[in-house]
Amino acid sequence: MSQAVTCLLRRLAVLSLLVAAPVAAAGCVASTEESDEVGQGEEVTSDEPEATESQTDAVTGTTVLQAADSSCSTTSVNGLSQQIIAEARCLTPDAYTTIPSRPNLTLGSAAYAYLEKPARDKLVAALDANPSTQMTINSMLRTVAQQYLLYRWYQSSRCSISLAATPGNSNHETGLALDVSQYSTWKTALTSRGFTWLGSSDPVHFDYTGTGAVSYKGLDVKAFQRLWNRNNPSDTIATDGLWGPQTETRMKKSPAAGFAIGATCVAAREVPGGQGVDLPDVDLPDVDLPDTTSDVDLPDTTSEAHSATLIKQLRQASEPEICGDHAH
Ligand SMILES: [Zn+2]
Repeated sequence: MSQAVTCLLRRLAVLSLLVAAPVAAAGCVASTEESDEVGQGEEVTSDEPEATESQTDAVTGTTVLQAADSSCSTTSVNGLSQQIIAEARCLTPDAYTTIPSRPNLTLGSAAYAYLEKPARDKLVAALDANPSTQMTINSMLRTVAQQYLLYRWYQSSRCSISLAATPGNSNHETGLALDVSQYSTWKTALTSRGFTWLGSSDPVHFDYTGTGAVSYKGLDVKAFQRLWNRNNPSDTIATDGLWGPQTETRMKKSPAAGFAIGATCVAAREVPGGQGVDLPDVDLPDVDLPDTTSDVDLPDTTSEAHSATLIKQLRQASEPEICGDHAH
């Protein structure tokens, strides 16, 4: 079968998947409308209604824009999100630390189980001090790709998203926020350990504001910008961690299932043309993302040969140090 025919069939398969996607069943209808007040209250966002969804429905070959406009689930950008998390962990290992399993902790299937290290430690302390009390967390870390979807849905009045922060501006992107279903039960245990309850406007939402809390605002944006540059050396953008028109344009075009070249902890060996060379040396973090994207295919782009060359070049330059990449 010719490459052109193969490509056409793949695109048809993608289209059929998109058409068949049951929007409401994918979590489009929120059971409750929840909003997050972020920072000093200047930004408001809505928690995504994704508690019962899986993280495995990214569609190969789909751009983020297509995913945004054809689904109501942020899981449609799971592959890209996992690369962003891995890249961010390369940049700042303590920003997104993994939540260990606990008998009294249940994570929603779509929750990325990461918090900033001090917040993680205090959460674990709260859980261990109340071993007979169950906690369900339906949202913790959220990536800029997910926040872009939420914001676009909010802008277009889709998917029951009534309010959303602009990408890069949700506390869920910083590793400081978590949503606890049994919020009233856990309020005292959490607030006594440095968490702040947002209040009735979004009762499930807590922000960590205690000892050691650091704002990593923009880290996920910077991680995305670096991934973009690594995969698009002829179209690089500033790796400033700021969400703006340049970054938004690239986000729309990015593969929802992840780039050909994923995260790398190599600081000084950026792909030529990239601008993200201002990083300190960092230890390789223990990246242990869920393996739900281990079977993700490479994005269906017309530049696969070019990407393959890049992969080869990068691997030759930095094979021992690549970390956390699930898409190549
Ligand atoms: Zn929240």
